[in-house]
Amino acid sequence: MRVFHSSYSGHHAPRTFVAIGQIVECPEQPRRAEILATAARDAGHRIIEATQHGLEPVRRVHDSGYLEFLETAYAAWMAMPNPGNEVIPNVHPGRNMNAFPIATVARAGHYQADTSCPIGPGSWQGIQASADVAVSAAQALVDSIGARDASAFAYALCRPPGHHAFADQAGGFCFLNNSAIAAQVFRDEGADRVAILDVDVHHGNGTQGIFYQRADVLTLSLHGDPTAYYPYFAGYAGETGYEAGEGFNLNLPLAERTGDDVYMETLDYAIARIVTYRPDVVVVALGLDASKDDPLAFLSITTDGFRRIGRKIGAMAFAILLVQEGGYISKSLGNNLTAFLNGFEEAK
Ligand SMILES: [Zn+2]
Repeated sequence: MRVFHSSYSGHHAPRTFVAIGQIVECPEQPRRAEILATAARDAGHRIIEATQHGLEPVRRVHDSGYLEFLETAYAAWMAMPNPGNEVIPNVHPGRNMNAFPIATVARAGHYQADTSCPIGPGSWQGIQASADVAVSAAQALVDSIGARDASAFAYALCRPPGHHAFADQAGGFCFLNNSAIAAQVFRDEGADRVAILDVDVHHGNGTQGIFYQRADVLTLSLHGDPTAYYPYFAGYAGETGYEAGEGFNLNLPLAERTGDDVYMETLDYAIARIVTYRPDVVVVALGLDASKDDPLAFLSITTDGFRRIGRKIGAMAFAILLVQEGGYISKSLGNNLTAFLNGFEEAK
């Protein structure tokens, strides 16, 4: 497996996170990427440093005002009297008021959906590096668009993750939607249809939002039931797309503590939908936080379960780009990645 990563992604090092009213250490740490890269390297996979691609591919998906906010927010924050050491909003627009704000605190509330996407001094550099990883890995596959052979695949070890990021909003540890950016690269490089299969334990709400009115990118997500789990306000089975995108979004919410066997049946259903769609490329939003050992655990997938997930995905006869999403530090994080990659390559 070609594993793309960036040695700059660690510049984004968020410190705090509010969970049920408590200020706790943010679990989306640079060490996640180190654990994943070490596990991949030790398992014999080839690590490749990403190249820089600038903001052009990012602008194909994201709003320019939002990008300007991400770039300038930290300096603006530190220019306020008595700022905290990270940009974290404490006021948000909502159902009853949503005027576009000027004040720095209010702009943070406008562009950051929750408290779990703090912006620190190195964040913008690290966030861009994560998108560069996705674009570099996608570029490595553009000659394989439409391929039905078994050799067209790569893994983008992105960090921070991206699937909760909308075109103009951060949230849930995510800022730039790496999977969406990669999918758009494939469209721009000649793919007629791209499917994004999201196996992160959280619903890929940002990805769904970006492509909700489009038929050229099929979005599918297996995730913990949002009636009881983040992101709560999206991820329901009734969300099937809008206008031109109607029928091109598939949500498969799963009950708490769902284990390997039910997960595999649900994954088979999603894969059958992908096969009928006949995409030129499949992007897999590869969260590993469905693990029973994850600190944010909701589902109960074992390490062997990740191998089985890898096998099923690897058996699809499409060009496949794997994009790292969530998956937090636990005793099995590295093993879950290598189990997935082993299963994937076994099927190839
Ligand atoms: Zn997640």
